[in-house]
Amino acid sequence: MRLSDLKKGEKAKIINVGGEGALRQHFLDMGLIPGADVELVKFAPMGDPVEFRVYGYELTLRLADAEQIDVEAVKVSEEEDAPKKKRVKKAEHPGLGEEGRYHEKETENPLPEGTQLTFALVGNQNSGKTTLFNQLTGSNQHVGNFPGVTVDRKDGEIRGQKGTLITDLPGIYSMSPYTSEEIVSRDFVLKEKPKAIVNIVDVTSIGRNLYLTMQLLEMGVPMVVALNMMDEMIGNGGYVDINAMEEMLGVPVVPISAAKNEGVDELVHHAMHVAKYQETPKVQDFCDSTDHGGAVHRCIHAVMHLIEDHAENAGIPVRFAAAKLIEGDNLLLEQLSLEQNEKEMLEHIVLQMETERGMDHSAAMAEMRYAYINKVCERCVEKPAESREHIRSRKMDKVLTGKYTAIPVFVLVMAAVFFLTFGLIGPFLQDLLAAGIGKLGELADGMMEAAQVNNAVRCLVIDGIFEGVGSVVSFLPVIVTMFFFLSLLEDSGYIARVAFVMDKLLRKIGLSGRSIVPMLIGFGCTVPAVMSTRTLPSARDRKMTILLTPFMSCTAKLPVYGFFVSAFFPEYSWMIITGLYLLGIVTGIIVSLLFKKTLFKGEAVPFVMELPNYRMPGAKNVLQLLWEKAKDFLQRAFSVILIATIVVWFLKSFDLRFELVEDAHESILAMIAGLFVPLMQPLGMGDWRIITALVSGFMAKESMVSTMEVLFAPDGVAGAIPNATAAAMLVFSLLYTPCVAAVASIRRELSTKWAVCIVLWQCGIAWIAALLVKLICAVL
Ligand code: GDP
Ligand code: MG
Repeated sequence: MRLSDLKKGEKAKIINVGGEGALRQHFLDMGLIPGADVELVKFAPMGDPVEFRVYGYELTLRLADAEQIDVEAVKVSEEEDAPKKKRVKKAEHPGLGEEGRYHEKETENPLPEGTQLTFALVGNQNSGKTTLFNQLTGSNQHVGNFPGVTVDRKDGEIRGQKGTLITDLPGIYSMSPYTSEEIVSRDFVLKEKPKAIVNIVDVTSIGRNLYLTMQLLEMGVPMVVALNMMDEMIGNGGYVDINAMEEMLGVPVVPISAAKNEGVDELVHHAMHVAKYQETPKVQDFCDSTDHGGAVHRCIHAVMHLIEDHAENAGIPVRFAAAKLIEGDNLLLEQLSLEQNEKEMLEHIVLQMETERGMDHSAAMAEMRYAYINKVCERCVEKPAESREHIRSRKMDKVLTGKYTAIPVFVLVMAAVFFLTFGLIGPFLQDLLAAGIGKLGELADGMMEAAQVNNAVRCLVIDGIFEGVGSVVSFLPVIVTMFFFLSLLEDSGYIARVAFVMDKLLRKIGLSGRSIVPMLIGFGCTVPAVMSTRTLPSARDRKMTILLTPFMSCTAKLPVYGFFVSAFFPEYSWMIITGLYLLGIVTGIIVSLLFKKTLFKGEAVPFVMELPNYRMPGAKNVLQLLWEKAKDFLQRAFSVILIATIVVWFLKSFDLRFELVEDAHESILAMIAGLFVPLMQPLGMGDWRIITALVSGFMAKESMVSTMEVLFAPDGVAGAIPNATAAAMLVFSLLYTPCVAAVASIRRELSTKWAVCIVLWQCGIAWIAALLVKLICAVL
């Protein structure tokens, strides 16, 4: 029987995991290993993907992927479900291992004074890394990018510990490179060599979380384990024997609650000690010599002997290298530069193990790790029957991912978010800010007048900076409000469900469920939409999604539509505006189908995703995030946009002899716009004023309206251009290049080359579409 054959609520035991390569490894890493129990929780409303429960957490898979996993049905025995005998609970705290239990005190050799103690914060997604990081660093943090990849990198000094630096790494499930983020985290630990690792473990799904811990231990880097979410564990009557766990893992284990700031000081204390004395994990030998005849155990140790010197030369921890080689990691194989003989020997050793164990190498290794984890959990952890949080999540999911309710609820939620952001809170704050900026501008104008500042400079400051940059800055509240709601949705765990619900639909255009989020934000503003693609797991999906978001008509285009429609087609206004939104979406779909067949061949990433329990997001996390986004946005406003605005202002105010022009017709801008006339003539848009409006729309779409108002004064645009041109213009402004701010953020996420390509490519599409519109109008 296959995993995909299960019905809702049925349980089974995994026999064999098929498939190949990285995806299969990912299955294994996520706990889908031979012998594991799985339960089919529910199907997504469209019948695919499916939610399973494995190793005490919820996981989603597509049916096609679930088909690769063989299972056998198990009878649910009453006994198994009954809670096991209760142990005496003594979750004391302290009672922890003394510091320095794992290094030789006689020969202790601390790092010299003044060495910077660097820490890596490593853990699964949703294990509370960001929460802990914010607790550890307070406000002493800086956000940057990991070089080469556009994943946020956050560094900060631990509060009260001078000369420390802790880095928040992307959430990962294992050290096998599956997504680009996992590569970032793995390389950080291997190459940047932090002095110690702080491994954060979500104790409510400890089985899967410890899998990463096992791999980190193999690397032999000094480490402490932070058992997070202890508040939930204890609150539900669970219990962890910390001392026993320390003994079995050979590293300090500190129970904490990051959200409540409990145990964090103790964690810091241990982390400092471990780093200072370079205390490496005492236990690494998880393979059991009695487990299934010890085949895996012997294999690992044989390989370790074989490659010992190579690993040392390459500076890679030997146990880690051996494990990775057995798992068939080619990257590592190259780094070790083994000789042909040794490679053959390696193959033989692995082959022998596979025969003895009756399982292939990857499954055998994963099984070995999970076998040890089971032992740890059996001895040290007493799980509550079912946590309150899980019961609550299940109830909420009945509605939020229910067969008939999921999509209506999703539409309602999004409508509410958009209404609040763009209809209520955003504009209110925006008006307030715009009024403030206006007042400031008047004040500056008055001061400059009093000081008899040169007229040109005064124009620049008022028209260029206050009007131009000011109008962009006034968008700050909208963007921050948008991010506020999105971070609520994301941190609470709802976004993961949306991806689950929408996956099937998005696969049809070559994307996965996760791309829905950026596209939705795109209806608000392309800038945050592009930034939010960072949550996507593959570079292919990220690129493709970034290319699509500009087709989702952003709110800044709404004034443009309004302007044209009321001037030319007042009787059809709603139909036309709705039509434009739809046209944007349809074009996006056509374009992505095109991409799917050409530039981005291949499948969207498999949809293997955790559905975490719903949790109330912490206020601190949310505030921190908003502050970061605001800073990001302002920085951009005062760099790229400021410069662009000054350039346009300059071009529109001066002629070639650099004299201030009375009539913009004689300005450099008009001349430059004139160059485009032959290009735009076929569309009936050869008027330099239209072209200028389009150019100013490139700065910010709304400014098209003000530009046209000025340039077509005093008679207005209505009589000046024919209706067909207006229609072509509408379509053109829907589809042509995203504004400067959006292009800048695309550049930041992808590259300059991509940004330029997108500008040209969208102008091309817009040109063709506008031409079609004009031809159709001519026929009508
Ligand atoms: P990350 O994905 O690893 O960065 O995880 P986050 O820091 O974003 O946390 C995920 C969720 O868990 C958030 O909603 C947090 O508020 C919540 N959370 C974090 N730490 C704790 C904790 O100690 N106890 C509880 N109950 N919730 C927590
Ligand atoms: Mg996080």
